[in-house]
Amino acid sequence: MKVVLLALNASFTHTSLSARCIGAVCAEAGFELEVVELNINEGAEVIAGRVVVTRPQLLLCSVYIWNRRLMEDVCTRVRLMRPEVVIAWGGPEVSGEGEGILARGHADYVVCGEGEEAVLQLICALEQGKPPEAAGIAWQGGSLPRKESRQDLDNLPFPYADEPWTKNKIYYFETSRGCPYNCTYCLSSREAGVRFMSLCTAKARLSQMVGKVPLIKFVDRTFNADPQRARDLWEFLLELPTETRFHFEVCAHLLTTADFVLLAERRATRFQFEVGLQSASPQSLLAVNRYTDAVQVLHTVRDLVALGTVEVHLDLIAGLPHETLATFLSGLDSALKALPHRLHLGFLKVLPGTELRRQAEELGMVYLPYAPYEVLRTPDMTPTDFLYLKTAAKTLDRYYNSRQAEQALRYVLRLAKITGSQTLERLSVMGENTVQESAYVALQAHVAEPEVLKELCRFDYLMHEPHVRVPDMLLGESPQEERAVRDLVYGDSDRLLVALPHRQGDKPGVILRRLRWGKFNAEACAVLGLPHGGEVLFDHSLPRSTRAIAVT
Ligand code: SF4
Repeated sequence: MKVVLLALNASFTHTSLSARCIGAVCAEAGFELEVVELNINEGAEVIAGRVVVTRPQLLLCSVYIWNRRLMEDVCTRVRLMRPEVVIAWGGPEVSGEGEGILARGHADYVVCGEGEEAVLQLICALEQGKPPEAAGIAWQGGSLPRKESRQDLDNLPFPYADEPWTKNKIYYFETSRGCPYNCTYCLSSREAGVRFMSLCTAKARLSQMVGKVPLIKFVDRTFNADPQRARDLWEFLLELPTETRFHFEVCAHLLTTADFVLLAERRATRFQFEVGLQSASPQSLLAVNRYTDAVQVLHTVRDLVALGTVEVHLDLIAGLPHETLATFLSGLDSALKALPHRLHLGFLKVLPGTELRRQAEELGMVYLPYAPYEVLRTPDMTPTDFLYLKTAAKTLDRYYNSRQAEQALRYVLRLAKITGSQTLERLSVMGENTVQESAYVALQAHVAEPEVLKELCRFDYLMHEPHVRVPDMLLGESPQEERAVRDLVYGDSDRLLVALPHRQGDKPGVILRRLRWGKFNAEACAVLGLPHGGEVLFDHSLPRSTRAIAVT
């Protein structure tokens, strides 16, 4: 039987872990599986065409919230072009609505829960012309699964054994399945408890991945659910001689003093932590079964940021039960005050199969009836409130998460007379200027020293922009960059190489192509932590974290 698996990633840089997991079990069992891995920007016509030319007999579709509607379109086209193809859907978001999917005819089979064993059983059953008896498979005319399959993670094959690694992609890895918590909106709360891969297996597999890719994202729902085990893995990853970075979803309240000692190490700059705050309203958190103390979480986030090593991403969700626009904005202000490196403002999704979905009517939540099932109105938040927050989320991404105005915004968030959400509101009405010009224009009236803000915006500009001249608005009294950088490169190579020893041996023309220069006043230097004198080189051949180098 010709089996094809279709995976549609959210972007070109992503890779599909599920496709590789299913591919690995099929290879181990001796089944041939062809993977068609594309991204959602390709469009239904192209994707359906790519599937059809593989001439599948069984098409396995890896369905997620970000590709659900596109997958429906693709499967409709495949069915019309090749009615004989058997279609099976799987993935976390379809597990809770097998019946609906079958009724709408998008798929002949739905794999509910984990796919590895169920897919093998499905292929075997179809090859033998029998209905699948496996736990976890629902089918047209058959009964819904009694229980879903649960795998021992050590017994599953390594999904990357034959991976032709690609340098510019993100790879995903899991060392556990399940979550110890029960947030009502989350699909991970469907399974009680957590299953861990043994440390020995996890370390052996990670050793085969590191160094091959720039970023490995752990999909473990709460990586530090067992704090001792997490620390053991962090210690292991810190010891590895690698440039690879690692992303973890962690619970802030589970981080211990021993973790902080470890994370203070310089090598921990290779770690990114994603922390879910979701809301600062105790009433809203309680309503979705989250018992964490938002004040404590924010305190821990501030301490993590202060380490200056780990990159911290903080998540908020708008639209939780009982959340009003005012309580949400107050939480947003507190979150911005903690100065995480990124702040993700997401919107509540009422996912099929969750407890929240069962409670939604009683809670008066109105949401999209199709993916992504996003909430549109609650008894406490109007559609206008949600639209206002959509704009805030876009502004947050453009100005804060892009880090294009990092120093300027940190200054404003620490010292301005307006709150974080008011800062976003001022920025949201800005026009076509660069991010740094807009930040200066929008916020200068709200800081005690607008000149310092201008200097910081210029710093951010030079940090971000490798070539284009600094806009006049941000130049002020600063000396001419072009002459200063040429004098340094052509006339004072000793001083240049003290600042940029890695440029030893490079020709001046090559250095100049990626080098910028700025001089900043004493007040801005104090804010930036620069030595007195304020001359800075921005070497755009270096990663962002080491790009700005003070010239002595
Ligand atoms: S939201 Fe996070 S903590 Fe809550 S159940 Fe889901 S994975 Fe676990």
